[in-house]
Amino acid sequence: MTQATPQKMTELTAIQTHWKNYIGGAWKDSETSLEVTDPATGNVFATVACATIDDVNKAVDIARACADSGELTKDRPATRVALLLRIAENIREITEEGAKLLVKENGKSLADAKTEFDTAARYFEYYAGMADKIEGKSIPLGDDYIDYTIYEAVGVSAQIVPWNFPVDICARSLAPALAAGNAVIVKSPEITPLAITMLATACQQADLPDGALSILCGVGSEVGAALVAHPKVDQVVFTGSVPTGKHILKGAADNATPCIMELGGKSAAVVFNDADRKQFIDSVAWGVFFNAGQVCSAMSRILVERDIYEELIEEVSALAQSVKPNSGEQVELTPVISEDQRQQILEMCDTAVEQGARLVTGGKALADRDGFYIEPTVFADVTPDMNIFQEEVFGPVIVITPFDSEEQAYELANATDFGLVAGVFTNNLSRTMRATRALKAGQVFVNEWYAGGIETPFGGVKMSGFGREKGQEALYSYVNTKNVAIRVS
Ligand code: NAD
Repeated sequence: MTQATPQKMTELTAIQTHWKNYIGGAWKDSETSLEVTDPATGNVFATVACATIDDVNKAVDIARACADSGELTKDRPATRVALLLRIAENIREITEEGAKLLVKENGKSLADAKTEFDTAARYFEYYAGMADKIEGKSIPLGDDYIDYTIYEAVGVSAQIVPWNFPVDICARSLAPALAAGNAVIVKSPEITPLAITMLATACQQADLPDGALSILCGVGSEVGAALVAHPKVDQVVFTGSVPTGKHILKGAADNATPCIMELGGKSAAVVFNDADRKQFIDSVAWGVFFNAGQVCSAMSRILVERDIYEELIEEVSALAQSVKPNSGEQVELTPVISEDQRQQILEMCDTAVEQGARLVTGGKALADRDGFYIEPTVFADVTPDMNIFQEEVFGPVIVITPFDSEEQAYELANATDFGLVAGVFTNNLSRTMRATRALKAGQVFVNEWYAGGIETPFGGVKMSGFGREKGQEALYSYVNTKNVAIRVS
């Protein structure tokens, strides 16, 4: 373990123009670099070392040695509790600097960027609380046997992270993996690889053993794919799109490497005519327009009872028109991540119009502004046969569809390939209970979109993936159960 020189975290995380990869306790440059663009201006402002396959092999060897030596598991678990708490403290110390960098590379608001660092710190605190409570069971088998289970660290956990919440999502998998005693290799996203490196600094300064963490940025289809297919990797944790998830599952198949898949969504809010409308519109602001709609669990469809359909369209459209850049409101309009992403979203909007959807507001790039902004967009009269009903947009776009019966509402909600989250807005308790049973999703929000927290299990069904992150349940994704059966007579 490299003993860290006591130095202020803020000195160690000063903004640079070129960033390196973190491989087993050392910062390493590469011959080639990737450019990082500010989505709010469209200008390149930094570069990051582009990792090679050699870097992957080195990171895996170091992680393997760390996992096999039991460096993180040989001492009493209280050691890991203290380690994770030190990491959390360091993350809190770098929040201000880190958040500014995250805004620059991702385009999100400063408040949202700070929340990402805060959430990252919370993951380390939360799983610190579990690191010394990973207890097996004793299973009664009669007088002739003693039987018990042990939870053992999986070993080397490869974690592939997307660009929309890089710091939050990195910590979401890293913290429970370290709490359980694993060595981790993170493949950071090419588009937003910078703020995530600050988590490496936070871990290094907390005296995490060198081999326990590498963070590599590289091209997904090369470096990411090599990591997934590496025979010395024991687990793949992937958060990203369905097409990439399918590649990863195929890549992991040769070594039968277990995967956790956190994929996309096309989540519906079902709104009944007795719903508290203010509460619902607040949820739309967060659910659709927060982070420019680039959220896997965004509210991307609204299903509304026919008798309040037109009124609700007006209310959602008024909200959409009020969401502006730098407004000082809790939810501001921020740019989407890239020009490519913007073009893709605008094409989806054009197709929606061609297929007969009613464009109520938006549907264009924001005029007179640099950067990759799109007007908050609302479509009505959207039907299940339209692409915009079925496909993830990943932008500030909402589609609205009427329903005539409760049964039809749930049918429409379940009528996509996805099953990440769903929501119901009503004050009728019996209907709430029926909805929570009928909606096919990993989690159901009632009367507040994004209700829940780091403490609540999160993951999908259907094409939205499998396995659970967050909450106590997630920790058990990072251990294997070993049963020990002893014949005593
Ligand atoms: P993406 O699938 O394009 O990329 C995700 C990561 O995979 C990146 O780090 C990328 O470099 C890497 N990658 C790409 N090809 C690879 C390959 N062949 N092998 C290994 N790694 C590879 O996704 P994105 O555009 O970064 O993120 C947006 C998507 O992520 C959306 O679909 C969104 O819904 C989903 N997402 C899901 C969750 C969740 O928790 N379910 C959270 C956030 C985002």
